[in-house]
Amino acid sequence: MNVARVYLAAGLVAVAVYFALPWDSFAQTLVYDAIGASAAAASVLGARLFRPSLRLPWYLFGAGLLAFSVGDVLFNLYDFVWHRDPPVPSVADVFYLAGYPFLTVGLVLLVRCLESGERRRGRIDAAMLIAAFALCQWIFLMQDRLQHGSVAERVVASSYPAMDIVLLGALVFFLLTPTSRSVAYRFLAASVLLLIFADEVYGVSPATYTNASWLDSAWLLSYVLWGVAALHPSMRELSEPAQAERPRVSTRRFALLAVALATAPAVLLIQAAAGMTIDAVPIAIGAGVLCGLVLLRLTGVIHMLDELRRTERLARAEAETAQRLLTEQNERLREADRLKDEFVALISHDLRTPLTSITGYVELALDEDVNDEVRGFLQIAARNADRLLVLVNDLLFVAHLQAGELSLEPDEVELAEVVRDAVTALEPRAAAKRITLTCVLDAVPTVQADRGRVQQVLDNLVSNALKFTPEGGAVQVSLTEEDGTVHVDVADSGIGIGADDQERLFQRFFRAESAVERQLPGTGLGLYISRVIAEAHHGSLSVHSELGRGSTFRFELPVTRTAVVA
Ligand code: ADP
Repeated sequence: MNVARVYLAAGLVAVAVYFALPWDSFAQTLVYDAIGASAAAASVLGARLFRPSLRLPWYLFGAGLLAFSVGDVLFNLYDFVWHRDPPVPSVADVFYLAGYPFLTVGLVLLVRCLESGERRRGRIDAAMLIAAFALCQWIFLMQDRLQHGSVAERVVASSYPAMDIVLLGALVFFLLTPTSRSVAYRFLAASVLLLIFADEVYGVSPATYTNASWLDSAWLLSYVLWGVAALHPSMRELSEPAQAERPRVSTRRFALLAVALATAPAVLLIQAAAGMTIDAVPIAIGAGVLCGLVLLRLTGVIHMLDELRRTERLARAEAETAQRLLTEQNERLREADRLKDEFVALISHDLRTPLTSITGYVELALDEDVNDEVRGFLQIAARNADRLLVLVNDLLFVAHLQAGELSLEPDEVELAEVVRDAVTALEPRAAAKRITLTCVLDAVPTVQADRGRVQQVLDNLVSNALKFTPEGGAVQVSLTEEDGTVHVDVADSGIGIGADDQERLFQRFFRAESAVERQLPGTGLGLYISRVIAEAHHGSLSVHSELGRGSTFRFELPVTRTAVVA
């Protein structure tokens, strides 16, 4: 059950009952006093119920509201028990005036724990509003009251407007403090505003106040709303330190400041228009104070701008340094990369000559009449020398590519022939792994291409398909034509490639997780080389694959001439 809502409803009903009862009746005063006392009790109850980290302000509110309430009771006692008008000052005044400091200190304590780092500017804005309000209070309410009556009367009469200045001061700080505008916050602000409003209206014409008046509605509602604020769960947030957000010069804040600044001239004009004696000294002092505050505010803004500019300069300098370092580092990396390519090219070149010689001599030795054991040894040596030669050739090829040295020798190529050759050459390997290797060749036009390089691509694709397909699987190579391009699809039922790896598959030395996990040998150069070759022919090389289900590589070449049968 929402206590605040129940209290609000009960409070509104009580206010309505107050106005429904006969005016100036004892019952009416009882209702009034009960509402006041209930607000005091609600403040304390709220603090106990919701246990905010700072409870003191709510106890102080309770004390302040209780003092007001006691003042109300005493005020009524004069009428109903002692049957006379309250003297000035009366005991009721003592309690009323004692209530204000409690409320003010409570509000100030709340503001202190809400305030963030941006205090100074908020304070100057608040001070401007308070100075403007104080000027009006002094000119229109306090000054006059200090002229008539006994010292005690003067002090009491001018204390009320002075207390309103203090309370408004606390309210303004409260309103200008950056914080979450919770429900409790709004109720509390509305309540203080109502209190000040009623005090001010009463202050302007105290003589017209009878025991009950419509103005009571403002005081009564102020009590009720205060109680609601205390009983709403969000009252806890009012003691939580606010986020360090910068107060923006919002339109509302700007309008408030404009009103504050216009106060001195406005007071002057009102006095002149009403034919009153112009209070030059207080107006001048008020205007002076406001000017001083504006200057302070301006200085703050200029300091902030300077600070911002300095921070920006620093940030820019840092960014420039970082960029320079990055450029230098890039340069070094490029240089290192170039040196590495040169080194690989050099080594590969130097390795190729002795390797070719080794394979040549091993082949010669195999032609000799050697016993089976030696033949077995020589065959192993020949196989490994071949593998080394392939690797060295790949490295050398990549080094040439990096140096931008890919030279093609284009010719009319019958792709069906090349595909058939590649498949035939790898049939023994397929048979060794019991892989069904099939070939489907459509009639396609010839293409303008470097036959050797196209062969290299197909060898790579088909041998990859066989390498990455487990025993007993299937590999199908098909040749088709579609929309002016010839496709060679190499589809396998192998280990497949993960989606993340597919994006990096055509990079140099990249090997997919699925291959590395199974420790399948390779260098990660074949696909890179194949794609470069495909693109050099204005074609493309792409992949569709699903982990664990197989892959299809598509090699596309543009058609140059029509109607050649496979
Ligand atoms: P290599 O085969 O020497 O590792 P490639 O450049 O030919 O180098 O292939 C790069 C990587 O792509 C392989 O290591 C493998 O992870 C993945 N790959 C290529 N073809 C297939 C395929 N048919 N099935 C699964 N993975 C493949």
